[in-house]
Amino acid sequence: MRYISTRGAAPVLDFEGVTLAGLASDGGLYVPEHWPQLANDEIAAMAGLSYVETAVRVCTPFVGDSLSEAELRRILGTAYASFAHAAVVPLKQLDERHWLLELFHGPTLAFKDVAMQALGGLFETFLTRSERALTIIGATSGDTGSAAIQALAGRDRVQVFMLHPRGRVSEVQRRQMTTVLAPNIHNIAIDGNFDDAQALVKAMFNHAEFAARFDLSAVNSINWARLMLQVVYYFYAAVRLGAPGRRVSFSVPTGNFGDIFAGYVAHRMGLPIERLVVATNENDILHRALSAGDYSAGSVAPTESPSMDIQVSSNFERLLFDLAGRDGTACAATMAGFEASRRLAIPADQQASAAAILRSARIDADAMRGALRWAAERCGEIIDPHTAIGLAAARADAGTAPMVTLATAHPAKFPDAVERACGARPPLPKQARGLMDREERYVTLPATLAAIEDHVAAHAVPR
Ligand SMILES: *Cc1c(COP(=O)(O)O)cnc(C)c1O
Repeated sequence: MRYISTRGAAPVLDFEGVTLAGLASDGGLYVPEHWPQLANDEIAAMAGLSYVETAVRVCTPFVGDSLSEAELRRILGTAYASFAHAAVVPLKQLDERHWLLELFHGPTLAFKDVAMQALGGLFETFLTRSERALTIIGATSGDTGSAAIQALAGRDRVQVFMLHPRGRVSEVQRRQMTTVLAPNIHNIAIDGNFDDAQALVKAMFNHAEFAARFDLSAVNSINWARLMLQVVYYFYAAVRLGAPGRRVSFSVPTGNFGDIFAGYVAHRMGLPIERLVVATNENDILHRALSAGDYSAGSVAPTESPSMDIQVSSNFERLLFDLAGRDGTACAATMAGFEASRRLAIPADQQASAAAILRSARIDADAMRGALRWAAERCGEIIDPHTAIGLAAARADAGTAPMVTLATAHPAKFPDAVERACGARPPLPKQARGLMDREERYVTLPATLAAIEDHVAAHAVPR
């Protein structure tokens, strides 16, 4: 499989190349040159397969010649052995129509582990083969940083520097990062907010001499391999509910548009999906874009579902590219316009073709709490605020197909918000016990480029 940039001007790469590159050099995002197709009999043949075997079938056309089937199976098998549930991503029935797909049984209790655990194995395999070493730099408001650290701790050939805003991530989230004491993990608390942390990371990548000297790379959700690994669970769940003979719908708590875009890819590959519901909180840019064609960035309002508090969803560019006929030059012009004005009007014909599969809903705090209480009182399931946004949107949807809400975080990750909504305080599950007692290690630095670069230079391995 070959990968092209949404902006049409970056080199065409294979799967190994896009996994290690992250962002395309023209500022765009990599996508497969075409969407591979799985025929109905191939989908039907997934019935009864384990999660790992399902993943092998879904990922093989994307991986192409970059890995043998045996290498792919080994990486996926190792990744999902770290999950606390034997089904990896169990499906739970709530009532006649509604289901939860629990994606939070990995080491950091959020769905990002599903892709990140396998990404760690892909990095190690590709870097060992090419005798390269990378310096991974990231900024996190919580879930991404901890998932990346857990996936990359102790791996040869990667040094990880993760910046978080001091005092602005929850204690569970901080400890999931800072109690990982592997020598290749470097946690940095910066005196500033998340935007400051992200701006410092961008500045380091834009400092060309520094970026080249330390071979900087990123593992945020623009990485194609992460999306590919998320496509798997749409197939896994749908097959369990009767696909390809029966259509299924999904509701997805959405921030950066990565998880829902993986569902769109499953649809493009031939999985019979009735609809994909984009569930947003009060930060509703995606709801405005899909329901009214108005993709315009405002300012972020903090909510009880912080992993969805975004202004701009980077993966949305991948959808825009597809909707506009996969024309890189046109997409580059559209994105340049958006970067200048922070607004973009989606043409009516593109809005209509998106609406054939994608729906959206804006869920406010009251509706989120209502869905959380409904799950607790009517179904005996304690869910987290992000999942509750998805469930509220799912219950408001008028379709008829079985509806799967993606449960993106374990409720114990957000115990205060859960307790405020339904009175129950979820305990940490077995795999996270002891977190509050373990030793922490991190440095605190001022939010200046010089301070961060000095720290990286002192600990990274130059090329
Ligand atoms: C990251 C995250 C989301 C949003 O996922 P995107 O792929 O960014 O749309 C939703 N819920 C939780 C718990 C998350 O960590």
